[in-house]
Parts: sequence; structure tokens; C-alpha cells
Amino acid sequence: MYEACIGLEVHIELDTFSKAFCSCPVKYKSEINSCVCPVCMGLPGAMPVLNKKAVEYAIRLGLALNCSINRTSYHARKNYFYPDLPKGYQISQGENSICINGFIEIEGRKIRINRIHIEEDAGKLIHEKDRTLIDFNRAGVPLLEIVTEPDLKSSEEAKIFLETIRNTAISLGISQCRMERGQMRCDVNVSVRKKGEQALNERCEMKNINSFSAALRSIERETERQIEIIENGGSIRRETRKWDDANQKSVLLRSKEEVGDYRYFTEPDLPPVVIADEWLQKIKQEMPEPYLSKVRRYEEDYDLSKYDATTVASDVKLSSLLDEAVGCGADAKMVTNLLLSFVMRIVNEKEMETSNIPFNGESLAELSALISKNEISYTAAGVVIEQMFESKLSPSEIVLLKGLGQISDKAFLEETARKVISENEKSVSDYKKGKTNALGYLVGQCMRKTGGKANPALVKAILEKLLEVET
Ligand SMILES: [Zn+2]
Repeated sequence: MYEACIGLEVHIELDTFSKAFCSCPVKYKSEINSCVCPVCMGLPGAMPVLNKKAVEYAIRLGLALNCSINRTSYHARKNYFYPDLPKGYQISQGENSICINGFIEIEGRKIRINRIHIEEDAGKLIHEKDRTLIDFNRAGVPLLEIVTEPDLKSSEEAKIFLETIRNTAISLGISQCRMERGQMRCDVNVSVRKKGEQALNERCEMKNINSFSAALRSIERETERQIEIIENGGSIRRETRKWDDANQKSVLLRSKEEVGDYRYFTEPDLPPVVIADEWLQKIKQEMPEPYLSKVRRYEEDYDLSKYDATTVASDVKLSSLLDEAVGCGADAKMVTNLLLSFVMRIVNEKEMETSNIPFNGESLAELSALISKNEISYTAAGVVIEQMFESKLSPSEIVLLKGLGQISDKAFLEETARKVISENEKSVSDYKKGKTNALGYLVGQCMRKTGGKANPALVKAILEKLLEVET
């Protein structure tokens, strides 16, 4: 029996105003080669200046992923030739990265993070039929590279790890991590060994994978490929391979270069990055709550299920609405239900971003109070939320305007219940035969007759009483 040892190198593009070493803007969509200057074009004599925000963002991520922050770190030149790399080298960090020795816990297991370092992105090649063009807008955009130890054991774990990194970066406000825009990419290292063995075998790397599903498939296929080679008496050579997602297979790119091939040396044009105590303290105090601590807080303090906690925590807007509503005294579970059922249904229907939800947590708190005080039914709350997307009225105003107030008038509800009983002989006889779920159907019919406004608990009690008398 074999097991896979998977390591990831995840690149995330930082959401800074300007590039890593010059003042050109970072814009996803702008005219080709419009965001360039002598520095990011690599013209002779141009001098880089490090973007302070990129350093701050690296520290935020390092703290969130339990890393030690190196108080003095250096930049290095990683030399290689490629047409989208105008300088002929990439400014990166080598031995002395800004964040080292971190970890995150996934399903109760520690996944070690070797380091997080700052580096610059390359330009983009645009291949046309008989020529290739280069857009340098992306050249010099700041990236963080997160390098794990080969601690992941399966493609599922790798997926959870990648989702956690994405949610963490988004919660910290440092990257949007949209994979379809190339703002998050990863290289996957896979080796296999017999279960119980301690030593790592030779690994293969697959470069520039740009979707979670491609990462999963590449890991699965590569694991199978290596096991097959070993089973047939062969051995694994260290290689860089390219994952061809369309054909579901990897192809050899090159036999793996060694670190020495890049002739790393300290970047002579940039001074060391020295982080003062005061600045580190300030960053700690001001940074937004990281995703994983939000999940923990929702499970422990709000008593949410793991699924609900991770779903709400993974969206900055939903989690701020929840926290704000709870701050106004609302019940956390009730608000979570409203968010994940009614609010998200409308967000998906309208194909809108959650950041554009037009109401605040205080309104949600007001709405959940109307439900807990039995002034409206849970079903009617859905109608109120629909209106909250369309108008600036408060939940109470909407309830008045739309006549959504819950009906608790016993005589009226009894009359409705009698009608429903006479119209649904089959369900009534089912109920009398002991099929208790027939009662739920009858309650539903009463709710329908009252446009969702009947108090469901009261209706249920009235139906039970009437049906008992009849027997
Ligand atoms: Zn520039």
C-alpha cells in the first residue's frame, strides 16, 4: 500500500495599489502595456524601491498562519531567461524569507509551512497564430509564495488547504484570490512511498495550476502514474511536468533544475527589510480577524455547525453582517439561517457580489427579533428579505406595508383548520392510521391558505386538537 506526500507552492497576487518595486498601478483590466515604467520594464539603471504595503500584507499572512516573522530579511535575484521577464531575473526572497516555520491545522493534523516570501510576478505572453506578444502590466505585481512541507496526504486535503489559504488571504484583505483571474496559482509536488516508510522518495513538480479542480486531478493522476512506474520495477526521476487539464495527464517539461541553476544572490539594489517592534505591534493590532479564528469563534461562541461556520466565515460580508447582528442582540443561529437560506438565494439569483448586499446587520437583528417574538413567521421573513433588497424600508415597516404580521387569532385559525380537514380526507385518515407526517402536510395547507401568515405552532396545536376530537 502506498501513500502520497504532497507539498504545495501557492502564489497569491497582492491587492496593493502599486507594484512591488515601482509606483505603477496594479489593475486587473487596463490597456495592454499601460501600467509600465523603467523599473518594471527592467531598463538599465532603474532602481527598485520596496512597497511597504506588500511587506505588511506578508506579515499579516505570516501571523495568521502561525509563522515566525524574520525581523531582518533579504531579497535575492533568481536568474533565468524567459521572454516575459524583462530583467532576466526575478526579485524574490531565498534563504532569508520574511515568514518562516508556520503551520495550519487541517482535520486535526498540522500541515507545516516552510516559509512565505515576497516576489514579483512576470508579464503575460499572448500567443497568436503566427506571433507572440507580451503584456508587461503584470510584470512587477507583488506576489506572496507560500511553501509547505510535503505533509499533505491526499488530493482532498490539498483542496481544503488551498481553500483555507484563499479564505485566509481574503479575510485579511490582502488578495482577492480569484483563480480565474490568475490571482491564485499553485505548483504541486508529489512523491509516493510505501505506507509506514519515513524517508521521502524523489518527487515530481507540476507547474502553474490555476484551479482547485485541476490541482485535485493532477495530484490523483500523478500519484497513480508514480505507483504504476514503481510497481513495474521502475524508479521516479525528479522532473518538472506540465499538467494538461484538457487531456487529464501530465507531460514532461524538463528534468528538474537544482536551486544552483538559478544562481541566487542577494539583490544589491535593495537594502535588507528590517521590521521594527513598533511596526510589528501596530500590524498585529490593526489586522482583520483571520478566517480560521473566525471559524473557531463561530463554532465555540455562536454554537454553529462546522459547515455553517466555515460558509459564513469564508465570506467577509456575510461574517460582518452576522457579527453586527449578534452585536445588536440577535440570535446567531437564527441570523445564520436567514443569511444562508434567504439572503444567499437572492444573491445567487441576482448573480450579485455579497459585498453589494444593501442592508446592515442591525436590520437583520430587527428581523430576527420579529421572528422570535412570533410577530411574523419564518416563511414571511423570506418575503421581508426580498423587500429589503428592493427598498430602504426597515423590516417592521415592510411587515406593516405588506400585511405580513403573523395570524395568532385562534377562532380564525380554527376555521381555517376545519376547512383544510374537510378538503383533505386522505391525509386525515393517514394521520389517524398513525402516519404522523400527514400532520405536517395539513399544517402546510393551513399556511398556504393564510399566505404564510399563520402562526405554525398554533396551527399544529389546533389541528391536533380537532383531529383528536374527531376520533
Ligand atoms: Zn513600473
